[in-house]
Amino acid sequence: MTRRQAPVAHSRAGEPERDTGGPAPEDGLRGEGASRGGGPGGAESWDGWRLVADYHTHTRFSHGRGSIADNVAAAARAGLAEVGICDHGPALLFIGLRSEERLDEMRRQVEQAGAGNPSVKVLLGVEANVISPDGDLDISEGAVAGLDILLVGLHPQIRPSLWQGAWPLVWKNGVGWVSRMLGLDGRAAAEARRLNTLALVRAVERYRVLAVTHAGLKMHVDMEELAEVCARRGTAIEINSLHGYPREEDLAVALRCGARFIISSDAHHPARVGWLEAGRERARRAGIPPHLVLNACKEQASSPGADQLRSGPPGAACGQQARQRWRRERGWAERGRTGFGAKNGMAGW
Ligand SMILES: [Zn+2]
Ligand SMILES: [Zn+2]
Repeated sequence: MTRRQAPVAHSRAGEPERDTGGPAPEDGLRGEGASRGGGPGGAESWDGWRLVADYHTHTRFSHGRGSIADNVAAAARAGLAEVGICDHGPALLFIGLRSEERLDEMRRQVEQAGAGNPSVKVLLGVEANVISPDGDLDISEGAVAGLDILLVGLHPQIRPSLWQGAWPLVWKNGVGWVSRMLGLDGRAAAEARRLNTLALVRAVERYRVLAVTHAGLKMHVDMEELAEVCARRGTAIEINSLHGYPREEDLAVALRCGARFIISSDAHHPARVGWLEAGRERARRAGIPPHLVLNACKEQASSPGADQLRSGPPGAACGQQARQRWRRERGWAERGRTGFGAKNGMAGW
């Protein structure tokens, strides 16, 4: 994996312009979303905003139905400016990547598909599994360093060979589910929730994560604790269109904590790439203003329309610049350390 995506052009003092009409960088600070856009009756309108990227799609490299080329072509048809190919990490039983070496072949196909669809920026990522309360992921740091984007999430179906490290998560969640089914007291479920939250928080602290996927799905989390760390670290809370997680009430909590968001399809079929409406509806109901959604973009007054968005700016620049600004605000680009995560700078995003 040798490819590094070129950073976007910077206009002044290294600051990329964001032509969304959106607010200044400090908008992600705690409570801003709630005071400006959140809450019933006070929500900023989504009129004129569109979602220009879908960062979470699956292919046959895990358990999606289409190829990378299929997903990219679908993204182009949907008028998206960016698409993420983020298959499941190898820890997922039966359906994860067979090995992280597959990423080399994926990179080759990403480049090929991108060349065939120049209107779409194709980002290679992984939906990595957090497999221990210490935030360990199921791909190596070397593999992460070759990615454009990194998503992390909790999934219960971890390969038994990895249970040694994952055992506290597997065991506590199992006991928690059973105790809930039997209507027993909530101590086991609460302990599982605490460990799940700890695992995600540590992963977000250790890695440069674009977003935490479908938080709360099957494995409960404390959204306040998670969102506060995400806001500080520059990690978005994903609003997952397929699974309906996080729930609306958790989104409202994340908003109050100063988090930012991405809305994604979690498409497992090319026809679902760019299917973001369910997520947008949930965001709207939770009072999330569109300027806090990193893949939302305000169309210009002249209404460029899909054709113009497909051709690149303003649509392409908009989602990409929002991501990069968010990252820079949290020191991702400036950290300048050598070694994992900094030498590559996650240049693609
Ligand atoms: Zn997932
Ligand atoms: Zn997924």
